[in-house]
Amino acid sequence: MTDVLVRARGLTKAFGQVAAIADATFTVIEGDQIALVGPSGSGKSSLLHIIAGIDQPTDGIIEWPALGPADTLRPAQVAVAFQAPSLLPPLTVAENIALPVRLAGGGDKAAAAATGPLIERLGLSDIAAKLPEEISGGQAQRAGIARALVTAPRLILADEPTGQLDSATAADLMDFLFEHVDLTYAALIVATHDVGLAGRLPLRWQMLDHRLQTEAFTGVPAVTRTGAETAAQAGAEPTCSS
Ligand code: ADP
Ligand code: MG
Repeated sequence: MTDVLVRARGLTKAFGQVAAIADATFTVIEGDQIALVGPSGSGKSSLLHIIAGIDQPTDGIIEWPALGPADTLRPAQVAVAFQAPSLLPPLTVAENIALPVRLAGGGDKAAAAATGPLIERLGLSDIAAKLPEEISGGQAQRAGIARALVTAPRLILADEPTGQLDSATAADLMDFLFEHVDLTYAALIVATHDVGLAGRLPLRWQMLDHRLQTEAFTGVPAVTRTGAETAAQAGAEPTCSS
């Protein structure tokens, strides 16, 4: 059976008089790879924060059927790579990346085992002992991704993850994210302005005037979805699971 990670109906978010999300209804299942696109200010970050359970909707219902109630979601099951700088200033890069392991009760050994391969793969070895104020915006962004992935979450929310990266580094980071989710079968939602990046994800959600349209990407998908996933997305009984 394919697990439903998130189910939302009629989600609305307002900041005072400012509308951020109007009446969004959607489902996320394991293995989904979704590009969340839309102009600046259209509500992408607000939506990711509500999906992560770190902000509440003004109206509507959101639940995480396979993950449990919102207060049990973090840090291991749902990960956010934030758009804004989010590394904790007094901790080194390596300590920041290890933080979710520590919060989940892991000791030195577990932290080192989980962070080492990520630090190496993301090219952060030379700056692992540095403080956030000593590294570039692009390095901080990659460290934020490493921190998001360190507990092997089932749902990964990446908010403009390549915004501060040159195109080669951005492409490599996305290659890595795809490798990761292909191995773990985590669901991935990437908020992005970047048309090229959005085209690498097989599903596209579009925010227009704060309204969410969930439609399949019409281009050539980079990753072919299986029949089981497509059937589950449409609400039908999946024919198999993996
Ligand atoms: P996007 O990520 O697509 O750029 P956001 O979700 O950040 O959009 O913002 C959607 C709208 O909500 C914008 O008008 C923004 O100014 C407003 N907004 C977002 N966060 C806050 C906040 N914490 N307080 C007040 N307004 C906010
Ligand atoms: Mg945003």
